[in-house]
Amino acid sequence: MQSGQIKHNNTGRIGIINRYAKYLPVTKKTPVITLCEGNTPLIFASKISNTLGVNFKVYLKYEGLNPTGSFKDRGMTLAISKAKEEGMSAVICASTGNTSASAAAYAARANMKCVVVIPEGAIALGKLAQALIHNATVIAIKGNFDDALAIVREISDNYPVRLVNSINPNRIEGQKTASFEICDSLNGAPDFHCLPVGNAGNITAYWKGYKEYYSYKKIESLPVMLGFQAKGSAPIIKGKPIKNPKTIATAIKIGNPASWQQAIDARSESKGLIEAVSDNQILQAYKILAKEEGVFVEPASAASVAGLFMLNKTGYFDKYKTKTKEIRIVCTLTGHGLKDPEIAIKNIKTPKVVESKMQTILKAAGIK
Ligand SMILES: *Cc1c(COP(=O)(O)O)cnc(C)c1O
Repeated sequence: MQSGQIKHNNTGRIGIINRYAKYLPVTKKTPVITLCEGNTPLIFASKISNTLGVNFKVYLKYEGLNPTGSFKDRGMTLAISKAKEEGMSAVICASTGNTSASAAAYAARANMKCVVVIPEGAIALGKLAQALIHNATVIAIKGNFDDALAIVREISDNYPVRLVNSINPNRIEGQKTASFEICDSLNGAPDFHCLPVGNAGNITAYWKGYKEYYSYKKIESLPVMLGFQAKGSAPIIKGKPIKNPKTIATAIKIGNPASWQQAIDARSESKGLIEAVSDNQILQAYKILAKEEGVFVEPASAASVAGLFMLNKTGYFDKYKTKTKEIRIVCTLTGHGLKDPEIAIKNIKTPKVVESKMQTILKAAGIK
């Protein structure tokens, strides 16, 4: 941390700009707009590790515990701080939900106007509520995310309003700090890193973060990057944009990723993979995370673990299944489960209603 960076009186977490200032494009003049994002837990997943084998250690980077409930806050603190430094008074974004929730919150703190363009009817309820309660101007269009992104790009090119989607390089710079935290916690890089891929900003950011830590000699190896798209929304696997992407994982329902080339580069440079997982595989992982590891995520986030299970089944990890070498795998869990309560409710049995009597309740609870 550079001296003079802390210009606030927050306690506890200090935010990614203050923690990693020397690796970020900030100066002492940058106004730090922070909600103390980052420093999220890296949770050891014992049951998921066991399904892979005795020498596997799987960790969950639980990004749902950021201030607005997703990793987007890491990029947004920097994008908004830099926009403020450059004298902007308004920001704009297209969003599948979490970008708008984050932009709205940080813009509110920075006294900036926030305009959000979303695809009509395709945003999870919790995320829409967040953008609105933080006082963003939310405009729903008859079109999908890719249409929304094309329009906000054009607006920000021609009017005094800063684009804060992940094509804004400050978003990537902020998000790369998740890699730093993982390496700091593990005392080195993991062997594999699994994460969902939508617009592909995050895989770009993680890979940039790992490579920078490597070049600063903070780590001695680089992870293999394993990215997962949803089957109905998998342009990178198909090799061409998808006009009408479909998936229950709305945060990765994107047919033409803005950072497509960077995602491909991360895959080839790390000798990794980008694969597709079905909505069923996503939901299965979503339930296992909640039921067995106690971690509630939104569906898109579960794509990382769904992908891990799929690769394990198809034998991808077989050659690493020795008893000697420990294999460390990190799965990024991008957003909190409470973001999308409707999906959760669709996937549970509604509670039984019984008489308010102890014996009846004991019987219904299965307690003898
Ligand atoms: C934004 C988002 C993604 C996708 O990240 P990209 O950078 O667009 O690839 C995945 N999961 C959640 C919860 C998100 O909010």
